[in-house]
Amino acid sequence: MANLRFQAVEKALDKQPLEVKVPSERPSEYFGKKVFNREMMYKYLPKEVYDKMIDVMDNGARLDRSVADAVAVGMKKWATELGVTHYTHWFQPLTEGTAEKHDSFVEHNGKGGMVEEFSGKLLVQQEPDASSFPSGGIRSTFEARGYSAWDPTSPVFIIDDTLCIPTVFISYSGEALDYKAPLLRALHAVNVAATEVCRYFDPNVNKVTSNLGWEQEYFLVDDSLYSARPDLVLTGRTLMGHDSAKNQQMDDHYFGTIPDRVQAFMKDLEIQALELGIPCKTRHNEVAPNQFELAPIFEETNLAVDHNMLLMSLMKKVARHHGFRVLLHEKPFAGINGSGKHNNWSLSTDTGVLLHAPGKTPEDNLRFVTFIVETLMGVWRHNGLLKASIMSATNAHRLGANEAPPAIISSFLGKQVSQLLDHIENAEKDQLAIAGKQGLKMDIPEIPELFIDNTDRNRTSPFAFTGNRFEFRAVGSEANCASAMIALNSAVAEALADFKKRVDARIEETRNDPRFAEGTGHTAKFHAILDVIREDIKTCKPIRFDGNGYSDEWVAEAEKRGLDVEKSCPRIFERYLDEDSVRMFESLKVMTRKELEARNEVKWETYTKKIQIEARVLGDLSMNHIIPVATRYQSQLLQNVSHTRGAFPTEKAARLSERNLKIIEEISERTSSIEKQVEELVNARRVANKIADEHEKAIVYHDTVAPKMESIRYEIDKLEMLVDDACWPLPKYRELLFIR
Ligand code: ADP
Ligand code: MG
Repeated sequence: MANLRFQAVEKALDKQPLEVKVPSERPSEYFGKKVFNREMMYKYLPKEVYDKMIDVMDNGARLDRSVADAVAVGMKKWATELGVTHYTHWFQPLTEGTAEKHDSFVEHNGKGGMVEEFSGKLLVQQEPDASSFPSGGIRSTFEARGYSAWDPTSPVFIIDDTLCIPTVFISYSGEALDYKAPLLRALHAVNVAATEVCRYFDPNVNKVTSNLGWEQEYFLVDDSLYSARPDLVLTGRTLMGHDSAKNQQMDDHYFGTIPDRVQAFMKDLEIQALELGIPCKTRHNEVAPNQFELAPIFEETNLAVDHNMLLMSLMKKVARHHGFRVLLHEKPFAGINGSGKHNNWSLSTDTGVLLHAPGKTPEDNLRFVTFIVETLMGVWRHNGLLKASIMSATNAHRLGANEAPPAIISSFLGKQVSQLLDHIENAEKDQLAIAGKQGLKMDIPEIPELFIDNTDRNRTSPFAFTGNRFEFRAVGSEANCASAMIALNSAVAEALADFKKRVDARIEETRNDPRFAEGTGHTAKFHAILDVIREDIKTCKPIRFDGNGYSDEWVAEAEKRGLDVEKSCPRIFERYLDEDSVRMFESLKVMTRKELEARNEVKWETYTKKIQIEARVLGDLSMNHIIPVATRYQSQLLQNVSHTRGAFPTEKAARLSERNLKIIEEISERTSSIEKQVEELVNARRVANKIADEHEKAIVYHDTVAPKMESIRYEIDKLEMLVDDACWPLPKYRELLFIR
């Protein structure tokens, strides 16, 4: 039988770049063509309905039934003109992907025929059969049914012949069964808290928006080669594979020329993404061979999250069309970089950006410092939780692997901001804010407009300040960004609310202080703000780290500072149930204890299942692919040895067979070691599977099953180097990783 691997390699080499149909219009013209955005609403909705929708989207006004009906009519008209026949509620269950159930517009017309119909009721709410989505027992505890409800702040869009309606997914008793519902609550919380703090500086601020700009990293592999790797197909990563002699050591892939086939894929993907309103901006090669990145322009966080989910599924589809498979796994290949998804996060008001130092007035600078410091306070207080929010069975392979941020959350601010905070912390109180005849005088150093040196970056930092935003770099490539954004926005909301409380109390205390008597303007207020800021700069200092995050010293130092240094994924999830976390989520009305508990069940269960599947695949491949091939090759060598004995005198034959005998022995040792360990792996699983408690089971899977896989892999990778290349059944790294 022909070797499947060689067939796959041949097929891959034969493939040519696809011809991409480029629209005749400019990108700015076809951008959002498949989105029912404001422009389309204006065109397809009666004026008063349009105005109401704007009020719903911008100010969170209630959507009443008559408006929904009118919107549905316009929406259907727009969609059918574009060839749409079906609609679906599109939501983000806890499985990390998206879910949809398509229904067609047709209904009986009562006269034996059919008619296309779409009402406000169908637009606003549906009851998908929710029983097969993970809920961590929420549904059995509370209420059997779940429903999806329209999120009017994220516009509907068209995929093929289907109108997709972004929705939240909740149980009938109100518990969130998805990512979007708690995200919307967290965004609301940060809006409320940040707006109040902004009003210290500018009473005209009405709204604070959280922004997200994600950078999606991914790998491409040829479809034929992918299909010849059961581990890639079933687990999304290679469970075995010896290093390619050449991988990323030449640093020749990063920002290099993009291969033609890949270029065609990217072009196609971008056109389709732009039509869906995803503002794609940047594309380039990444560090590892076959690794690439796509980044859009940042957007409001809820929309950005939807767009990322949409893009990930679009990528998969377009890649197949081009004869590729896209790998979103955080670590598809050992020995080279994995993929992340930097989450660039910032806050802005209806009047401007908050994390950018304008440098015009000391008050502006103080506002900038306030938002920097309170972000740090949130990150410091909830560093363990933030780590939990980005942790997964797959991302665990990447964090701390000397390529991505370590599994410790810290923040890098760059020299200028660090010095600014140190200055404020160390200066004498009265030096900073003096009440006097001239009113407030604040000695906050001038911050020039473009003050952040963009090259002053620390690539090892999980949460770095980069000029006008923080970059949360620990997020995994496969993750739903919502998870990180729920935790981060909540943590910042809590810090800002707490800040406001303390500042107000201090203003109250100094009410009768003669230094702040009438006529001195806002002095008491700014004095109070500075006081609290100085306190907080001291408190959150442990989170600031500008050094090398890859070093062992950092782990020891971080532990001394009281930061969370836990490495085990299932144990890291425990942070969601810490009293501090529960209190924060409950007080902000983002999630209840019950929801947190249920969601953690899902996390532990998912973790276990992922490791379980990997362990099974590895066991199967070891026994059915690797050992038989190695044994066959060993038999060939044995035959050669015995033929040599027939052809030469004993002593000479022995000498001539020396090398073969050594290989024969090594193959024996390695195959029996694999066999023994696979048996141990099966046993470890058997023991773990008996544990009923999901939390405990996940921990046992982490501690006993996962490490076994590493040592089995080690033996297999050695065999790959021993066995004749002509019989090796699985495409090798050097074949998978170099697209031509
Ligand atoms: P780099 O790879 O150098 O970090 P990229 O240009 O690839 O930068 O990506 C930066 C991302 O950050 C983009 O999505 C960009 O839109 C986003 N971004 C820029 N400014 C902000 C901001 N103020 N808030 C949020 N995201 C931002
Ligand atoms: Mg970046």
